[in-house]
Amino acid sequence: MSQTLGYAAHNHNTSLEPFSFERREPLATDVQIEILYCGVCHSDIHQVRNEWGNSSFPMVPGHEIVGKVTKIGAEVKGFKVGDNVGVGCMVGSCGVCPDCHEDLQQYCNSAEFTYNSPDKISGGSHYGGYSKQIVVNQDFVLRISDKLDLAAAAPLLCAGITTYSPLRHWKVGKGDKVGVVGLGGLGHMGIKLAHAMGAYVVLFTTSPSKVQDAKRLGADEVVISTNPEEIAQHIASFDFILNTVAVPHDLDAFTSLLKRDGTLCLVGVPDQAHPSPSVGHLIFKRRNLAGSLIGGIKETQEMLDFCAEHNITSDIEIIPMQQINEAYERVLKSDVKYRFVIDLASL
Ligand code: NAP
Ligand code: ZN
Repeated sequence: MSQTLGYAAHNHNTSLEPFSFERREPLATDVQIEILYCGVCHSDIHQVRNEWGNSSFPMVPGHEIVGKVTKIGAEVKGFKVGDNVGVGCMVGSCGVCPDCHEDLQQYCNSAEFTYNSPDKISGGSHYGGYSKQIVVNQDFVLRISDKLDLAAAAPLLCAGITTYSPLRHWKVGKGDKVGVVGLGGLGHMGIKLAHAMGAYVVLFTTSPSKVQDAKRLGADEVVISTNPEEIAQHIASFDFILNTVAVPHDLDAFTSLLKRDGTLCLVGVPDQAHPSPSVGHLIFKRRNLAGSLIGGIKETQEMLDFCAEHNITSDIEIIPMQQINEAYERVLKSDVKYRFVIDLASL
């Protein structure tokens, strides 16, 4: 075992604090990684505050991890010491179920998440990326191109794949009109990726101050979603809308913007139910309401390679570990452009 320093929440209503804990020595199929940067996802806040009701403490959050390989097990293939690598939201799955066979490990009933999830090897809990070092089975380690800035690539491991996967699943491409709801960590990646896939992209935001940024990021149009007149101009015109909002809100406002057979895909996970949809908005144009969870490992690698090819990373604000509690408050106020990334050298 080796001692590692991180930041942990010990309770759902206290601040994160320095925390010392042990990581296993690499097993034959493990990769040991020195963590250089870790993104701050809104899911970290939901879980630290037990908003989904499934939190176990102490919790070391963080699932947008990038770093360098420091040690490999005897059977590791494809990674060597010094490589730039990433770890996203998952570190294990059963490997034999239909979901795993189709490279959709995120839907495996035994998926092991990077933190706040039982660790089958230690019998304890997984601890995430707000820490100096992690040991992960090679099947859940991603390769990161030297072309990408490492800090700005960190959010690709969750915000990137969570938006890429539904855009691919619903075959977004040239000629499609695509909406992205919410310009935060996920939303800004949704704009960049949908734009790179060739779609006509419309951002829906509650923040008039973000209009210019949205266009710079690749939005063709921006709609202030609190203005019913602006929304009404887009009735029944979208092929696909990706909704990243983290609080309950009226979904009918967005389902009504879909064409016949269009899809509204929810990726935001509020702690309370949405007040809608009403069935009428769905049946009259055979519209679809769907959800999507991160993405499988193979698709995450595909997304990272797509980002390297198209020179796509996140817009980030780098913070030292010690500022994490203030950063959470700013995320809750939508006051981040557009993802905080922790520099673990500060710890
Ligand atoms: P974020 O950075 O906080 O972005 C959320 C955005 O929602 C905000 O920037 C804001 O954009 C908008 N918003 C905030 N309050 C709103 C309100 N009252 N009404 C309407 N819009 C509001 O969060 P994130 O990290 O992108 O995560 C978003 C959600 O996705 C979270 O619930 C997270 O847990 C979830 N998530 C899901 C998956 C998955 O696999 N499905 C993966 C990762 C994260 P504007 O200022 O532009 O309105
Ligand atoms: Zn996340």
